[in-house]
Amino acid sequence: MREMTTTARPPTTRGATILHADLDAFYASVEQRDNPHLRGRPVIVGGGVVLACSYEAKRVGVRSAMNGGQARMLCPDAIVVEPRMDAYSEASDAAFERFRDFTPFVKPISVDEAFLDVGGAEHLFGPAKETAAQLRTRVLVDVGLPLSVGVARTKFLAKVASAQAKPDGLLYVEPGRELDFLHPLPVEVLWGVGPVTAEKLHDHGVDTVGALAASERADLQGFLGPHSGRHLRDLANNLDPRPIDTHRRDRSMGAQRALGNQIRTREELRRELLALAEKVVARLRKAERVARTVTVRYRTQEMRHESRS
Ligand SMILES: [Mg+2]
Repeated sequence: MREMTTTARPPTTRGATILHADLDAFYASVEQRDNPHLRGRPVIVGGGVVLACSYEAKRVGVRSAMNGGQARMLCPDAIVVEPRMDAYSEASDAAFERFRDFTPFVKPISVDEAFLDVGGAEHLFGPAKETAAQLRTRVLVDVGLPLSVGVARTKFLAKVASAQAKPDGLLYVEPGRELDFLHPLPVEVLWGVGPVTAEKLHDHGVDTVGALAASERADLQGFLGPHSGRHLRDLANNLDPRPIDTHRRDRSMGAQRALGNQIRTREELRRELLALAEKVVARLRKAERVARTVTVRYRTQEMRHESRS
């Protein structure tokens, strides 16, 4: 088993340039953006199951994936709205376009979440912490949505940091101070700690990441299993087994544009394609890169995806 022999490694000595950008209460924020009456009020998206809820609803215990009836009991004055997937998809595209204005190294995790490596962009936007602040402003001003960002030397820490920064916040984990940040947090912040593992840990008196880091490996492996025990203890000590810049392997630069619903002539599409190509090439020139493969992806009205390379 290859994974058993993987050696965990400490973060490199380079600076904290990994951003985890996460739109806050995404669907609910789009609804509040588009309807001023919803601002400052508890909003639940989806009637049957809660797809998303605003922070006003979260405050009284409403959560995503919760049953709608239970959510309304917790929050009787909540305004329940039907999801508008087209609006969310458009907002997501607009936010990701802003992300790509700052760096070509954008790794999408979901419609409202991505990792960005801004290590190569410091001459353009300043240190990563400032880039993160600029990114938040751009998304708020141009797209109208609150974005929380975590900045750290590893993806894992950047993600933990963005969650701690919410709502509408920025958290920078200073290189060398990672354990000071991580150890006071509850074990639930670690990847791989779900409700079952969390309960086992609490049963053994392990409530914080610091307590987990200080636990005997053999003890942890005894009640968590050999793999999970070692993996979580490594994470708690900030030993991240994954290479830091995996996403550099598929280096690519791109540009995209939504064309709306009206039918376009071949000539119009050629012009769009040319404009996109110009945009990509300008970025390549700016970054002093060459490229090999050109890929065109498109999505039809029926949401069918196609691509040609
Ligand atoms: Mg989010």
